[in-house]
Amino acid sequence: MITKRDVESLIDLTGRHNKQELTACLVENVRKISASSTITVYEVFAAQSDRELDNNPSGYVVRNTSHSVWQGEPLAQHEGFTECIATKKIVHLTPENSLTTRMIIPVRGARDIIGLLVIDCHNSDTEVLFMIEALSQVWKSQQFLLDRNERDGLTGLLNRQALESRIPHLFGEKPNSPQGATGASGIKCVAMLDLDKFKEVNDQYGHLFGDEVLVHFTSLMKNSFRPYDYLFRYGGEEFVVVLLNVELDMAVTILDRFRHTVETYDFPQVGKKTVSIGVIQMTTSELPSTLLDRADKALYFTKQHGRNRVCAYEHLLRSGQLQESVVSSGDIELF
Ligand code: GH3
Ligand code: MG
Ligand code: MG
Repeated sequence: MITKRDVESLIDLTGRHNKQELTACLVENVRKISASSTITVYEVFAAQSDRELDNNPSGYVVRNTSHSVWQGEPLAQHEGFTECIATKKIVHLTPENSLTTRMIIPVRGARDIIGLLVIDCHNSDTEVLFMIEALSQVWKSQQFLLDRNERDGLTGLLNRQALESRIPHLFGEKPNSPQGATGASGIKCVAMLDLDKFKEVNDQYGHLFGDEVLVHFTSLMKNSFRPYDYLFRYGGEEFVVVLLNVELDMAVTILDRFRHTVETYDFPQVGKKTVSIGVIQMTTSELPSTLLDRADKALYFTKQHGRNRVCAYEHLLRSGQLQESVVSSGDIELF
């Protein structure tokens, strides 16, 4: 028998337009229905390195989002995960002599499975299970819509709006948020990347070839950075990368390797292109807008000094090449 409370739970879920809030709302409502249920959210990544692929012939790695330090786990380590990803359908597990029913629910992103929701319910009442499954289905559809809205149509990367909505999670200190903080407790760096003299591509070869360069550039980014780093298309030919669990010097090394990858890549038809990069280590004492502004200042510096370089804001300050940029509270304009 569906109750007024059940309907209210469903309405509650459909009103959430932010992924973190959506998951928190699901957890809260499932608990209302079955107090002893536990929910775990796993992110799913394509395995990247050969080592990861050796351990995961399925080609996927999962990460429990409640762990604050990133740790990829093989799919096979979890019963039902491989089946769930292969069939893209809900898997029910009811071990013999166990009072717990487990549901593994696949979460589709715009292109592939991006997550798994695992609900362990200690109540085997069919109506309770039905309602939990209904809530999960609504959660899943909402996730899909939100994921699509957060993606840039050309490159498939997260868009500027997605950066905005992730700011509290990425720039703040919320390691135990329900969606999980992908290394949120660790040191992070934020980089702004801008393709050099990109206008020339459009002028010389036309807009379609310009688009093609952006798509190839995106593939280079996806192959160069780790699967759990955050990649955004900030606008036009500008990108933002949030590198998790690295200090500034390491970030500069990683970004310079990427810069070199771009420099040596042959873009179809167009040939060689280069990228300029500004980077800063994040601190919680500064506003996100200040950090982005400073990364942008470092990027601007590279543009003024030959392009095809990586410049760290802190290094430029220390060497006296840049003056401290202070954003007064009256100037705050996030995006
Ligand atoms: P700089 O090295 O100083 O960054 O020079 P630039 O030519 O890259 O920079 P500028 O800002 O002058 O030009 C950026 C160009 O990017 C202009 C715009 O037409 C182009 N652009 C922005 N978005 C897109 C897009 O989605 N597709 C294509 N093909 N071009 C785009
Ligand atoms: Mg440019
Ligand atoms: Mg630009």
